[in-house]
Amino acid sequence: MSQSDIARSATAPPASFVLGPGDPAATFTPEDFSEQHQLIAQTAEQFARQEVVPKAEELEHQDFAATRALLKKAAELGLTAIDIPERYGGLGLDFASSTLVYDRLAKYASFSVSFGGHTGIGMLPILYFGTEDQKRRYLPKLAASDWIGAYALSEASSGSDALAARARADLEPDGKHYLLNGEKMWITNAAFADVFTVFAKIGGEKFTAFLVEKDFPGVSVGAEENKMGIKGSSTRSLILNNARVPAENVLGEIGKGHHIAFNILNVGRFKLGAGCAGGARTALEQAAAYAKQRQAFGRPIAQFGLVAQMLADMALGVYAGESAVYRAVGLIDQRLESIDKDAADAPAQIRMALEAAAVECSIVKVFGSEMLDRAVDANVQIHGGYGFVREYPAERGYRDSRVNRIFEGTNEINRLLITGMLLRRAMKGELPLLAEVNAITQELMAAAPAPGGDEADGEPLAPETRRIEGVRKLALLLAGAAFQKYREGLEQEQEVLAGLADLIIQVFVLQSALLRARKMAAAGHRNAPLARTMARVLVAEGLDRSEAISHRLLPRVAEGDMLRAQAAMARRLLKRDLIEVIAPRREIAAAVVEAGRYPLG
Ligand SMILES: Cc1cc2nc3c(=O)[nH]c(=O)nc-3n(C[C@H](O)[C@H](O)[C@H](O)COP(=O)(O)OP(=O)(O)OC[C@H]3O[C@@H](n4cnc5c(N)ncnc54)[C@H](O)[C@@H]3O)c2cc1C
Repeated sequence: MSQSDIARSATAPPASFVLGPGDPAATFTPEDFSEQHQLIAQTAEQFARQEVVPKAEELEHQDFAATRALLKKAAELGLTAIDIPERYGGLGLDFASSTLVYDRLAKYASFSVSFGGHTGIGMLPILYFGTEDQKRRYLPKLAASDWIGAYALSEASSGSDALAARARADLEPDGKHYLLNGEKMWITNAAFADVFTVFAKIGGEKFTAFLVEKDFPGVSVGAEENKMGIKGSSTRSLILNNARVPAENVLGEIGKGHHIAFNILNVGRFKLGAGCAGGARTALEQAAAYAKQRQAFGRPIAQFGLVAQMLADMALGVYAGESAVYRAVGLIDQRLESIDKDAADAPAQIRMALEAAAVECSIVKVFGSEMLDRAVDANVQIHGGYGFVREYPAERGYRDSRVNRIFEGTNEINRLLITGMLLRRAMKGELPLLAEVNAITQELMAAAPAPGGDEADGEPLAPETRRIEGVRKLALLLAGAAFQKYREGLEQEQEVLAGLADLIIQVFVLQSALLRARKMAAAGHRNAPLARTMARVLVAEGLDRSEAISHRLLPRVAEGDMLRAQAAMARRLLKRDLIEVIAPRREIAAAVVEAGRYPLG
């Protein structure tokens, strides 16, 4: 990206994708990876294939010494130190690099979860919110995996509703220590972690983060949870029984623990989305290999149209997912780049940069986790009976995937956040949504030609750009109608908020897929024709989904004449010629079979 592209995007308001079609030149894509990015990707992928996957069976039996040894090896390769600045023993690389590690490591989910618990939610609270002393004390050990990190927010009675935590902290009379009491639940890496970011309420009121070492008096962990999947990861409770924590281990400001909790979850859910794209790529590789060698009715099953459709579905999901992930990476890196990490207000600035990308983080998480669930399901189906037995990794992948819709904020909570954050930004004047809704309404009321038509246009993929614009405008129109009807009561209309979130997710993901295909076409990239085919299919099918959502929402947000007018506008916005998708899907499947894996990248 050029300097002017970067400057233009960095100054764009948060979630500006809802305001227009985007600009291919200002969009970061996997084709923009530098040599250094590619080297990091290769290192992570090789490490996963050569070191992690061969140990999967041991890890499934919860040999946590093996997990720790692997985390140490990952550290020797620099993989655990990507986000940590050099002066704390890290590499201090960009967000794209650390995202790529999560993406390419995703070959065995349990290890990915342990790795994410350590390098993401385990380490980042200290990096982003720690004092200089805390950073010096903990980050070098964590970056080297001599110590392992963990994050303890949830409790038995408060997961989604994290601020209702009961754990409390009381300052001892000498003012030197806090005594922490309570029980944290579902803590990833708890069996072997050395330091936990723990959230507790000082005096039962002020929600605050603490750095708690496993050897502090009064700290212990419970038994392993017996989970459906990711069995090779550790999930235990953290028991705080008059745990004595030095006052200098308060992390961030007293009473402002929610800033840490929510910002770190933004990053956590983003990296989870990247891992899901990688996980789906892995499932596709397994499915392609099996479909090529399994014979039925005298030929490889890959040659059957219905198997090909499943392979195409998986490839389309990966393409859409990674396009969305790396577009968002570009936005985040642009914002982080402009921050002086040594400045006194750096943590506040970093927090604001992450907050600015919070909508995209939730989108990437929801889309990625649901896309991965469909991919692992298709992988089982392509394996037939063998997909249902433990001998093949398809069965484990199916179980391992499910948790992604639950942790780092359930997908319900994330859907509510997507719409809620956009509406809040509009009300605070940070995002000119109201003006945009008015402009769209005026445009539709004028006797201009229908915007969704497919009339010939010189620009490649121009009809697709117009179609996504139709979905974007529809989403805003429906949001406007919903707000007008319910006002403050909209919060209670969760089905409407989630339906709007689904439209917004479509807009971001389809735009990302299309902008990438357009950028590849402009650069004459060798894979541009395949990317174009994928983008066209995704847009065609995305419009069908958007139409179904609008049919559900419209009668809820408008009535009588208003409903008829809104429905007519929706029809105009989604107007399009029917597109043949079966042949392009066969083409995509053929590319998968030929490559024996995801054919781009
Ligand atoms: C394997 C695993 C590892 C984990 N690792 C960690 C970790 O390292 N650290 C940590 O702190 N936590 C961790 N968690 C906890 C995880 O973040 C929570 O399970 C998750 O946030 C959901 O909370 P809950 O389980 O209490 O479910 P609940 O919050 O009780 O939710 C139950 C259901 O109700 C829905 N729901 C809840 N509130 C609303 C609402 N307002 N509107 C609509 N629907 C709603 C939810 O979407 C869900 O479908 C982990 C969980 C698992 C399973």
